[in-house]
Amino acid sequence: MRYYLSPSDAPLKDITFVPYWRFKGTVFSCKGYKIDHRIIDTSFIASPLQLLPRSLGLRPQALKLKFVSPEMEGQFIKRQIPFKSVISFVEKQMHATTKSANKNTIYHQAFIGETLSIIYTPILIRDKVYDAILNRPIGTFPKNEDNNPLPFDQHQNWQTTFIPTLCPYCGWDLEGEKDSLVLLCRNCNSLWRSSKSGFQKLDFAIISNNDDDNVFYLPFWRMKPQIEGLQIQSYADLVRVANLPKAIKKEWEERKFFFWAPAFKVKPNLFLRLARQMTIFQPQEQFVKSPPRSIFYPVTLPASEATESLKVTLANLVNAKRKIFPLLSEIDITLNGILLVYFPFILKGSEFIQPSLQFSINKNSLYFGRNL
Ligand SMILES: [Zn+2]
Repeated sequence: MRYYLSPSDAPLKDITFVPYWRFKGTVFSCKGYKIDHRIIDTSFIASPLQLLPRSLGLRPQALKLKFVSPEMEGQFIKRQIPFKSVISFVEKQMHATTKSANKNTIYHQAFIGETLSIIYTPILIRDKVYDAILNRPIGTFPKNEDNNPLPFDQHQNWQTTFIPTLCPYCGWDLEGEKDSLVLLCRNCNSLWRSSKSGFQKLDFAIISNNDDDNVFYLPFWRMKPQIEGLQIQSYADLVRVANLPKAIKKEWEERKFFFWAPAFKVKPNLFLRLARQMTIFQPQEQFVKSPPRSIFYPVTLPASEATESLKVTLANLVNAKRKIFPLLSEIDITLNGILLVYFPFILKGSEFIQPSLQFSINKNSLYFGRNL
């Protein structure tokens, strides 16, 4: 998404817009044999211009953001700094703020559930350069040696595109809430997610409940990992490596092992707990290939983001943290298949209870997660 901050009174046609990356998301750090997490909302300049501050500070939170449209007047300076540098900026910023309090080594860091956008801030180029929000001079451009003008962007193709929510297979109306990344066709029992080239079919399963009264289906990602640097092939291996307090059964040596993560945004501590519980449980219930009949909760955390959690979940579930944490940078976990699985939960008071796995999620934490 591309947004801009409005100049206070200069007309748009006179304005030059400077791009900033905006990063909103959660950073999980494996350090000091614990998992630290923090919700971050920060911005970083996407152009090598020296005149402007590196970050927009509180402006994105305090001022109204508007969508950039293709017809919009004004000049847009090209993005020249890649997003990767934002990540290292965020990391440096975090180090700076935690340095004095916590000197523990960071063994692994993951950014999960982030949204990335571009925010353009307005400047006026006259005799001097002016901040067009505060109408204050901020300096003069250094004379360009080779007299190159600033690189500007063509923004004709910046239109947001819409796709009709009709099933690409059978033409039926797709169902889903407005924040859902996945839509359901009840006519041909298929699930769809949007991609650059339109809708893409998604592999899914549900664990059905005999009685659908008062049942809510919550989506989880089941991820098949390929782990290098640590000997985990089966569920028995996981129990051994993680030193879980369980007596290993013979059949576990053959049982495939999956990582799990919620497919919806929740606060970081709840995300960690759910991913850990589900991965330790390794649900064995029977899967059905038909969509939930009653209310199903929207998928708000994409598969790509859930994949970022693999190493964090491993770090979170091992009991031998002192032994495993220093190895984290050597361990390589790649995804070898993913499936969306809906689990039935029964609402009792303010808790959603999963009857067979015996755990619950508070109703308010789901509500809170939809605003993350
Ligand atoms: Zn269909």
